Amino acid sequence: MKVYFVGAGPGDPDLITVKGADLITRADIIIYAGSLVPPEIFETRNKTARIYNSASMNLEQVTAVYLENKEKPGIIVRLHTGDPSLYGAIQEQIDFLKENSIDFQVVPGISSFQAAAAAMGRQLTLAGVSQSVIITRAEGRTKLPPSEDLSILAKAKTTMVLFLSVDKPRRIMEKLIPEYGEQTPVAIVYRVGWPQEKIVYGHLAELDKLVEDNKIERQALIFIGNFLSSDSEGYEKSRLYAREFSHGFRKADNTDG
Ligand code: SAH
Repeated sequence: MKVYFVGAGPGDPDLITVKGADLITRADIIIYAGSLVPPEIFETRNKTARIYNSASMNLEQVTAVYLENKEKPGIIVRLHTGDPSLYGAIQEQIDFLKENSIDFQVVPGISSFQAAAAAMGRQLTLAGVSQSVIITRAEGRTKLPPSEDLSILAKAKTTMVLFLSVDKPRRIMEKLIPEYGEQTPVAIVYRVGWPQEKIVYGHLAELDKLVEDNKIERQALIFIGNFLSSDSEGYEKSRLYAREFSHGFRKADNTDG
């Protein structure tokens, strides 16, 4: 069976690609990451499909399913939360599949950070504010390469998105405040796309308080940066839609009034 790694999106069952949804209807086996992928995502499956929840399986148990079914016809859909390219565990599975000559394909998904930006109604890159997004995490059991210490990444003062870090607000404050300053806006986005979704706003100096007061312990993203500032004078409008700016699809309108 060919293995499809499918990005399941942030949780809202409608936020999956057409390609991913189609594969689910055709799957003979579905393996899903139960902690962050809701079963509603595969409601449209063929009812004969076998379902595994990878939350209670180790890597060997998952790869054993791939190997057992290698010579059989059909497809396996492996559902990962958000987009599988970020903080997932697909590489080790892909390496296993390559070593064992099992065909595979990755189907991207909507990452939780994209869904969170949409839920906030915010653009992450604003001219004159920040033209880059740093996606990173605070150090935990997974060590950060020393050159990626938050205090170093903070020097660029870009829009920053922290995954897997909401349990370490004080460490984040210690590393970021010297560069961003205490008043830089922050947002905590909890379980975007789920019925429990919650978004709280504040500034960097009160990050720990925001986390504690709202009892957010996991499954949240932290956004930092002036893109969250309510001051609409703080950025420049996009050149792409500026009237006096030409590009491949539109001629400039340089007339007055
Ligand atoms: N590949 C996933 C990330 C997996 S790591 C993606 O692209 O979104 C798991 C972390 O992602 C969580 O600890 C949390 O920081 C974030 N996350 C995943 N789903 C989320 C959601 N629905 N709402 C908020 N954060 C989420």
